[in-house]
Amino acid sequence: MVELKKEIVNKIQGVEVRTIEGGKNETLLHLKNIDSDTDEKCIISAIQAKAGNNELRVQVRNLKHSYSEMKTATIAVDPEVAEKFLIGKDIQIGIGHCIIEKKTYIQRCYRCWQIGHTKAECQEPTKENLCRRCGRADHRSNDCNEEEYCLTCNKSGHITSTVGCRKFRKALTKI
Ligand SMILES: [Zn+2]
Ligand SMILES: [Zn+2]
Ligand SMILES: [Zn+2]
Repeated sequence: MVELKKEIVNKIQGVEVRTIEGGKNETLLHLKNIDSDTDEKCIISAIQAKAGNNELRVQVRNLKHSYSEMKTATIAVDPEVAEKFLIGKDIQIGIGHCIIEKKTYIQRCYRCWQIGHTKAECQEPTKENLCRRCGRADHRSNDCNEEEYCLTCNKSGHITSTVGCRKFRKALTKI
């Protein structure tokens, strides 16, 4: 059980949960442990060098400090280049050293809290007015003192769409 938990936590750190949007002809990659003095230009030239192409189109999005002294970033590149040269490779950026990971998403609906479709596609009854922590309608999760109840799997004992949820974990293992 401890092992399983560890595995899930490790996995979640590389996973961003959000609803899917555009971006057809690009692969998003995730970089962490970037030294805090590093800027976008420095990241772009490191990626270009790694891919062996100084002209490579690289977009840096979301370069920010993580909870440690380091920064993380999302970069967008040509999918072919990502598959061939970048995913899973380690790279030196500034004085930081990181592994280039593919960014993956769990598609989750913020209307009905089910997994596998977006709010825009949702055909289910809305649960948007319900407390995300306990599933009741008369308060918001910030003010919640009730027992935890999950609106994704309709079971008590954990908060909606968190690691405690069997349905949520199942979606994670498919990534
Ligand atoms: Zn939905
Ligand atoms: Zn509540
Ligand atoms: Zn659940």
